[in-house]
Amino acid sequence: MTITDAPSVYRADESGHFGEFGGAELPPFLVEPIAEVARAYEEASQDPEFQAQLQALLARYVGRPSLLYFAENLTNELGGAKIYLKREDLNHTGAHKINHCLGEALLAKRMGKTKVIAETGAGQHGVALATAAALVGLECEIHMGAVDIEKQHPNVVRMQLLGAKVVSVEEGGRTLKEAVDSAFGVYASAPDEYFFAIGSVVGPHPYPSMVRDFQSVVGREARAQILEAEGKLPDVLVAAVGGGSNAMGLFDAFLEDESVRIVGVEPSGEGLEGDRHAATMTLGTPGMLHGMKTKVLQDENGEPSPVHSIASGIDYPGVGPQHAHLEQIGRVEYVTASDAETLDAFQLLTRKEGIIPALESSHALAHVIKLAPTLPKDAIIIANLSGRGDKDVDFVAERIGVA
Ligand SMILES: *Cc1c(COP(=O)(O)O)cnc(C)c1O
Repeated sequence: MTITDAPSVYRADESGHFGEFGGAELPPFLVEPIAEVARAYEEASQDPEFQAQLQALLARYVGRPSLLYFAENLTNELGGAKIYLKREDLNHTGAHKINHCLGEALLAKRMGKTKVIAETGAGQHGVALATAAALVGLECEIHMGAVDIEKQHPNVVRMQLLGAKVVSVEEGGRTLKEAVDSAFGVYASAPDEYFFAIGSVVGPHPYPSMVRDFQSVVGREARAQILEAEGKLPDVLVAAVGGGSNAMGLFDAFLEDESVRIVGVEPSGEGLEGDRHAATMTLGTPGMLHGMKTKVLQDENGEPSPVHSIASGIDYPGVGPQHAHLEQIGRVEYVTASDAETLDAFQLLTRKEGIIPALESSHALAHVIKLAPTLPKDAIIIANLSGRGDKDVDFVAERIGVA
């Protein structure tokens, strides 16, 4: 076996395990439909025509490559390392999610499905998927808790305008958890028609690897862009972690570069005591969630705990299994940023650079604000600006008393 044939410690094995994490822990009725997705993705990932189709859409439609922007004002303000921002906020639809939604929609089409289906919480995944479905020519069905439908009215309207059917879920707490069950129920009843499109690097194999691969364009671009701009690799990468897709997208191309320190930032919300946080990597324990073994914030009975973050896109009681593995083998560090630190970071970037970041991405920036002053001026940080903050301005204005 040559070096290039050797299985990388950073890749899942055939059963979709990253070390002890991952896998496909499914009820019997989902085993075959998900295995079909795994086989189809395996084929597609080796088909140059599929890859070319995806690359063409990323260029012509999403607007890739996204900029790697040197944030000079922010760098001067903090007085330490040079800060570069990977501008996923400039993508069509304003965040990184379109990268994997297009990949999933193309795969659905290739498999002969007529519909994509998913659950959504705050609606960001639903909007990105509805967009990809409209472009590729698929029907789209989004399950959403009735409580979330009430709270996220603009995203509901967007999905409907994009042609998606939004199903209001009235069971139980009427939020994300029930929406997941509802969407999986419909999917299992007609897997020949539907493709289940998961919104992050979570769920059963092949989703954590597949969604990472679709997002890995972010890190490949950033690596080439920083070599072009600075002639060397960055010292540190920083990204916010909810399920972990924007983070894996940035990290993947640098995992083998041992000189590059890699940091994931999750929400400590209102503090790590009690349940007003979503710090899964910091306080979670190994468990089962959504068809995978990973770290989970859970009670004694293995029920997922309630979670909170000021950023609704990262308040998830689990995390992608590859993150749990990367922590266990010591390759990636996971830290936290609080709601208050995140609000400060949001305002600092807005004022200093004229860039309004998503509250999710502001968690990464909050850590950059702590880290940059501790590093020498010739050190380089790349932070993933996973999305734009237009969706958050009313909320922030109210919180800081501008409105
Ligand atoms: C959804 C979302 C996230 C969190 O998802 P990950 O899978 O952890 O990347 C982060 N940033 C933005 C802008 C989002 O919309």
